[in-house]
Amino acid sequence: MTKTANSHPRPTTWARWLSLPLWSQILIGMVLGILAGIILGPDAVALKPIGTLFVNTIKMLIVPLVFCSLIVGVTSMQDTVSMRRVGFKSFAFYLVTTTIAISIGLAIGVLIEPGAGLGLTSTVTSDVIVAAPSLMDTLINIVPTNPIAALANGQILQVIVFAVALGIALVLIGEQGKPAIALFTSLAEAMYKLTDMVMKLAPYGVFGLMAWVAGEYGAAMLLPLIKVIFAVYLGCALHILGFYSLVLKLMAGLSPLQFFKGISNAMAVAFTTSSTAGTLPASMKCASEYLGVNKKISSFVLPLGTTINMDGTALYQGVTALFVAQAFGIDLTWVDYLTIVLTATLASIGTAGVPGAGLVMLTLILTTVGLPLEGVALIAGIDRLLDMARTVVNVSGDLVATTVIAKSENALDEEHYNADIQDSVRMANEAEQKQA
Ligand code: ASP
Repeated sequence: MTKTANSHPRPTTWARWLSLPLWSQILIGMVLGILAGIILGPDAVALKPIGTLFVNTIKMLIVPLVFCSLIVGVTSMQDTVSMRRVGFKSFAFYLVTTTIAISIGLAIGVLIEPGAGLGLTSTVTSDVIVAAPSLMDTLINIVPTNPIAALANGQILQVIVFAVALGIALVLIGEQGKPAIALFTSLAEAMYKLTDMVMKLAPYGVFGLMAWVAGEYGAAMLLPLIKVIFAVYLGCALHILGFYSLVLKLMAGLSPLQFFKGISNAMAVAFTTSSTAGTLPASMKCASEYLGVNKKISSFVLPLGTTINMDGTALYQGVTALFVAQAFGIDLTWVDYLTIVLTATLASIGTAGVPGAGLVMLTLILTTVGLPLEGVALIAGIDRLLDMARTVVNVSGDLVATTVIAKSENALDEEHYNADIQDSVRMANEAEQKQA
């Protein structure tokens, strides 16, 4: 009897471990990794392959994830004249705000210097640095002569250009494009699922990476990580409270306070799930119920933003790319800065709104400017914390765009927007009944 009761202690512990939310598993992996690194010292390098395997797995996702989710984003546009106009406005708005977000991230990275004085050395960078393309090369080569080669070689900017072009073509051929759109939609869903599955490996990967980093560099790494967290959170706060408030006030003459009250639920969901896609139902509800945005606008601009607009992710990539450069003592030129802005802005179009997607894309930014991929090891351990903040920015940015575009299209009920929450809900119900 006793024997039977005691013979299965492991599954219980394992089941308990598996029932923990992913973010706490990752946090535990990080703490255990740091402890293992401190205890093992330089010998912890033996654990590095676990981390390398994880990094390889996330790199595996980049091309198919970007390709499929981008095609779905582009083809989600309708072909009526007003939808084209709204589509154009959304694209322009999303691109400009993302460029500003990455610039804020870079400015904060320069001012706070989160990686300064860390003095890490990389084992794999030098040849990558030599091979890094210049901005001019990047611009010239942005159109792939062979899209299959671009996909096979992971030329992500070329992949983005081809996916956008293909998406537009699929919409233009109407009925004939529908089977292909359905296929890419299904593949995109599968890629989101795969990202989800790969993220389940994160606690172990983070453990291996953190053990190696802690063993190699010791406790001195913690301070710069705290500085990175601070820098990303500061940038996110500035972008939301400063920049978005200005946009709402200056472009649409709307009260930022009413806006933030109206979207607080969506912000909370974004913070806890770290997924723009997962927050979409909450965002739709906030837009129509609390902000008074006509559903015709929100049902198009919000899903598009979920796929292509990632201000928070771009901002985070600006801060973390500079962190990595500073940590490894690599001086960046102004061409590198411009390359980061361009790459992060375009890459954000192809970043899926799922947890950890920004970390996948960080490998791309680092590679493009020739920064060491070991930098991902440093960031991976704290990525969930950063993901929570950047997802709030991503979701807020989509809702700002939706509100401003709705106002410009006469599709915003301002009385509703300015009403308090109780009245907003009542007004939304009345509008619904009227429509029915
Ligand atoms: N988790 C983010 C989002 O869903 C994407 C990212 O990882 O940056 O918006």
